[in-house]
Amino acid sequence: MTATAPPPTTAPRVYLKERRALPFFSRHPWVFAGAIDRVDREATPGAVVTLHASDGKFIAAGLYNPHSQIRVRLYSWNEGEHLDSDFWSRRLDSAIALRQNLYGDANSESGCRLVFSEADGLSGLIVDRYGEWLLVQFTSLALADRRDLILDLLEAKLRPQGIWLRTEKGIRESEQLELADGLARGAEPPRPLNLVENGVQYAVDVQQGHKTGFYFDQRDNRAAVARYVAGKRVLDVFCYTGGFGLTALKVGNARQVHAVDVSEAALELARKNAAANQVADAIEFVKSDAFEELERLAAAGELFDVVILDPPKLTRHRAGLAKALRGYHSLNQLALNVLNPGGILVSCSCSGLIGRDDFVGMLAAVSQRSGRPIQILESRGQAADHPTSVHCLETAYLKCYICHVA
Ligand code: SAH
Repeated sequence: MTATAPPPTTAPRVYLKERRALPFFSRHPWVFAGAIDRVDREATPGAVVTLHASDGKFIAAGLYNPHSQIRVRLYSWNEGEHLDSDFWSRRLDSAIALRQNLYGDANSESGCRLVFSEADGLSGLIVDRYGEWLLVQFTSLALADRRDLILDLLEAKLRPQGIWLRTEKGIRESEQLELADGLARGAEPPRPLNLVENGVQYAVDVQQGHKTGFYFDQRDNRAAVARYVAGKRVLDVFCYTGGFGLTALKVGNARQVHAVDVSEAALELARKNAAANQVADAIEFVKSDAFEELERLAAAGELFDVVILDPPKLTRHRAGLAKALRGYHSLNQLALNVLNPGGILVSCSCSGLIGRDDFVGMLAAVSQRSGRPIQILESRGQAADHPTSVHCLETAYLKCYICHVA
């Protein structure tokens, strides 16, 4: 393990092809294999390297992975700054300080994303805090190689009761990273553990639940949607553990919620959450494929005042873009079939590859085809604990449009 990296002056040098340096002078952190001309000597997986333009000019210091399409991830643009334990410690401090400023002192039932990879200058590292537990995801080989150091730093700074590792789908193929989920430090997180968000209680399964257990990125959108639902009948499609629907009932005083998800494990927690928040009478959960349930509801002549669509990522690759847009189109079209005139459509997308223009274009096509004007009332994104790096716009992935539909 490379706890203390050698200074960049002695590190292998990665030279870019001619005319490929601009994005990296502009501080984009991902150097794809295709931009690289040569490496001046052998660089082992995870090694510190320096990146240079074809004329030899220093651009940045980063970490190397010969097995990944992202051959170098960049971390520092200051020549002479070492990627050593002090460096990682400072980066973690800034990320933690930002959340402290945003949300104040942590308590045993609060949670947020503490480190959001590129957005916090820590490409390849995600840390979520759930009360006294930390969930850590390594999405790059080089930071996973430094995991003892990073876990030591997190332990020293945050004194969690335990740290649990989660792995992301596809990471073994993209990074040749072999990691298994499991306890990394301290005590095992309880199953479920309790969390309060916007005054709503949730039981969260951080060990088996999706991603790291809970979608903090929708925190502010759940609260925003709750402002439109008083006295209304709400359809919460892709409800997971109940986020939008429960907030609509408890915070927004919705009249009734019909919630749909395909995962029985998610619905089991969602039902418990409804009971814990004393709204079980006003919410019904249906285990079904979303498309099928929307078709069934339309055929039964059911209508809602508010329809929320929060589907999972519909594509991870550029090649899947057109198909994903068709998926969003049919989903939103189906939603309109069960939306009362004058109703509210909340349409989300967490596919980073789908741009805002593409998504709004899709809504325009749905509007045109159905003959129902759609007005965007709020163009929303991800919560502030998932900031966007101006140098890496891939960090802006979540779209949440609150629309009025005639
Ligand atoms: N709205 C949720 C998060 C949704 S995550 C919240 O506020 O927390 C996406 C959800 O879609 C997951 O729970 C997953 O189980 C569900 N899902 C995926 N494919 C589905 C499908 N075809 N039909 C219904 N649900 C699906």
